[in-house]
Amino acid sequence: MADFRSDTVTQPCAAMRRAMHDAELGDDVFNDDPTTLELQRYAAELLGFEAALFAPSGTQTNLIAMMSHCQRGDEAIVGQQWHTYKWEGGGMAVLGSVQPQPLELQADGTLALSDIAGAIKPDDPHFARTRLIVIENTVGGKVLPLSYMRDVATLAREKGLKCHIDGARLMNAAVALASEHQLSPQEMARELCQGYDSVSLCLSKGLGCPVGSLLLGSKEFIQQAKRVRKMLGGGMRQTGVLTAAGLYALHHNIERLADDHANARYLADGLTELARELQTLQSLTVIAPQTNIVFTDIAPALADRLLPYLAEHGIKVTASRYQATQGALMRLRWVCHLDISRQQITETLTLIRQFAQEVSLVK
Ligand SMILES: *Cc1c(COP(=O)(O)O)cnc(C)c1O
Repeated sequence: MADFRSDTVTQPCAAMRRAMHDAELGDDVFNDDPTTLELQRYAAELLGFEAALFAPSGTQTNLIAMMSHCQRGDEAIVGQQWHTYKWEGGGMAVLGSVQPQPLELQADGTLALSDIAGAIKPDDPHFARTRLIVIENTVGGKVLPLSYMRDVATLAREKGLKCHIDGARLMNAAVALASEHQLSPQEMARELCQGYDSVSLCLSKGLGCPVGSLLLGSKEFIQQAKRVRKMLGGGMRQTGVLTAAGLYALHHNIERLADDHANARYLADGLTELARELQTLQSLTVIAPQTNIVFTDIAPALADRLLPYLAEHGIKVTASRYQATQGALMRLRWVCHLDISRQQITETLTLIRQFAQEVSLVK
C-alpha cells in the first residue's frame, strides 16, 4: 500500500494531533483565536512579511491574493500550466473579474522575462490594466532559482506591477536550494520571497497538515485580504484546531522535506534501472525529479496493463493521457511525502519488476 497521488494525502501524525487537541481556541472572525494569531505571527516573521492570514485552501489564498491586488477589469500575468490559471476553476475570472494573461512556460518552468515584459499592456482603453505577475515555485516539482525570482520581482517593480508567489510548495523549493546558497531552508524561503508583495503557502501538502494555507503580505494587504476572505466564505471560527497543526508543521516538518526529495530520486533511479533492464518496460521514460515529484511517461498500451496492476496491489498514482510529438503517452505522477517511506518505494519497485516479468510470460 502506498499513496503517491499527492502530498495532500498525508495524515496528521500523533504529535500533530495532540497539538490540535490541546490548542487554545477563540473565535478567529473576532480575531481572538490565540493559536491562529500565533501561527500568522510566526509565519510572517519566518518569511519576512508584516502579516499573514490563514485560509482553508491554497486555491482560496491565491484567489484572495489576486482579488486583493486587482480590481475588476485588471489583468494578471500567469503561466499556461499554473495552478492559478488552470487548476482553480477559473476563479480569478469567475469570482474576481480579473483577466488572466497566460504565457507559455520555458522548459525549466520559468516564464521568459521578455515574454512577461512583452505581455504588459500600455495604458490604453482597448486593454485590460496589467496589474499583477503571478509566479509559481515549485512548478510541477521544478525549482525556480533565486536569481530568477529576483529578476521577476525587479521587473515588476520597474513596471509598477504587483507580484505574487503561488508558493504552495515553496518550502520544497527552499529545501532544494538551501545548501547551494549555504542557508537554512527557512532563510532560503525568506530570500525567495524577498521583493514580492504576497505569497501563498500550503500547510496541507508536504508540510503534513490536514487543512490550510497561509497568505502573507504587508499589513495593509492582509487587511484587504481579510475582507476578501470573509466575502468568499473563508472566515472560520475556532480555527486553532487547524492552526495548531500549522504551527507544528512549521516547527517540525520543513527540514524533513529533504527526505521526500531523496525518496523521489530513489524512486526515479529505481524506475530508470527497471526500464533499462526489462523489455516490457522499454517505453518507460523517467523525468529526473528536482524535489518530491517524479513524472514518468509510458505507452498507453503498457499503461492499460500496469495501472490496474498497481491499483490491485494498493499502489495509487495519478495518470493523464497527453499528446507528445511521438504519439499519445500516459504521464504518471508519483509524489513523495511524509507518509511514503523508503521501504514502500522499494516494495513498489519490486512490484513493478514482478509485473514486467508476469507480462513477459503471458506474451
Ligand atoms: C495544491 C496547490 C495549490 C492549492 O491547492 P488547494 O488544494 O486548494 O490547497 C495552489 N497552487 C499550487 C501550485 C498547488 O500545487
